[in-house]
Amino acid sequence: LRVPSREYHIVVLGAGGVGKSCLTAQFVQNVWIEAYDPTIEDSYRKQIEVDGRQCILEILDTAGTEQFSASLPLTAHPNLLTSCVKPAAMRELYMKSGQGFLLVFSITSLSSLTELHELRDQIVRIKDDERVPLVIVGNKSDLEEDRAVSRSRAFAVSQSWGNAPYYETSARRRANVDEAFVDLCRQIIRKDVA
Ligand code: GDP
Ligand code: MG
Repeated sequence: LRVPSREYHIVVLGAGGVGKSCLTAQFVQNVWIEAYDPTIEDSYRKQIEVDGRQCILEILDTAGTEQFSASLPLTAHPNLLTSCVKPAAMRELYMKSGQGFLLVFSITSLSSLTELHELRDQIVRIKDDERVPLVIVGNKSDLEEDRAVSRSRAFAVSQSWGNAPYYETSARRRANVDEAFVDLCRQIIRKDVA
């Protein structure tokens, strides 16, 4: 008996330069590419099997959260304003349609972890769900010598978010990449069949 595949929408979020595009490329295509255009925002499809269940994942690799912050004065140049309001509205849209979220920071940047709080707050607000499927990803684990975020610090964040799973990944070495995405899929499936 064939169970039909389900399609799930995953959104990859985090500060610029933390490795969202590299992680997505490693997961979807098994490739390491040193440099991506930081403004690229695109979605990718991948079919995987999780616990005997076929899932088609639609993964949105987002770009440029830093330009979203609503700190711009309303007197700003009109062109500047549209270029800021539009991405903010888009972010709200994909947070609405996303079913699972990969919140990525870099273990070499404390501010990249801090930035995730605002994103998580916004997701919870928009989904109106404290238990929205998400994983916290500390990327660039190969750069241990440049570590600026301790594991315990990341775990503290995880605990404050209802024990959201925390993974340390290296897109460069393709370490823990599948694990983080699959964990997220499991959470979405659990919610889907509940
Ligand atoms: P994004 O802005 O979050 O999409 O970040 P990118 O995926 O474009 O990566 C930003 C930079 O970090 C690039 O120079 C990558 O080569 C580098 N990078 C991404 N992931 C890793 C990683 O796991 N380890 C190391 N050492 N560098 C990484
Ligand atoms: Mg990118």
